[in-house]
Amino acid sequence: MDVALVCVGDELLAGDTVNTNAAWLGERLAERGVNVERVTVVPDRVADIARTVNEYRAAYDAVVTTGGLGPTHDDLTMEGVAAAVGRTLEPSEAVLERLASEGGYAREDLAAGTADIPAGARPLHNVEGVAPGCVVENVYVLPGVPAEMKAMFEAVAGEFEGEERHVDFLVVDEPESALVDRFAELQERFDVIVGSYPGDDVRVKLQATDETELEAATEWLRANVEVA
Ligand code: ATP
Ligand code: MG
Repeated sequence: MDVALVCVGDELLAGDTVNTNAAWLGERLAERGVNVERVTVVPDRVADIARTVNEYRAAYDAVVTTGGLGPTHDDLTMEGVAAAVGRTLEPSEAVLERLASEGGYAREDLAAGTADIPAGARPLHNVEGVAPGCVVENVYVLPGVPAEMKAMFEAVAGEFEGEERHVDFLVVDEPESALVDRFAELQERFDVIVGSYPGDDVRVKLQATDETELEAATEWLRANVEVA
């Protein structure tokens, strides 16, 4: 399963907020064996949200958006997603009922648009906040506030599944440039994906769908590099 993330918010582009939502979702999806193929940050602008979501929903199995929910002026994600799938926005009865029963919000007290989702979308209740998310076609619309986003993702996590991947890390005390030959041989010998992240040491990430293959590859690498 291949997924694209679309994070909405001027504040992310300006660097006022660090995009921890993308990092967290990337990790959770990878754990489930799902490939994240794109992370795109777009401004709070309907046309940009709609264009990006529309392109990605055609190219990938699912799109996950974060941010821009709720009734304030810069909350435009529902509008953008609705435009992308060619639907209108409608207040969700299920959301209004839940906000009344669980949150004690009377309909007339809610700001206009609070419960709006694309027509026919499946609402996702916001257990940590107010603004609902939704699933429409293959687009998952989640909040921006990290605690709200995480809780809502967990409610749909089971819908994201890929081939299980086993992961090993090895910290190597050699310059990254010196490791080229070992990495080439490693990939010739074993069916593994190799990631190399230099810092003070080099963190090497090995991934394989077969656990025995991963163990053999890690063992071979350990025997052929200077382990930190
Ligand atoms: P609300 O319903 O509270 O308006 P929202 O879903 O509309 O939430 P935003 O308005 O986009 O979310 O963002 C609210 C706050 O959540 C931001 O000010 C920021 O602190 C945090 N936030 C938003 N997007 C991200 C992100 N990608 N990574 C980390 N934090 C984020
Ligand atoms: Mg908001």
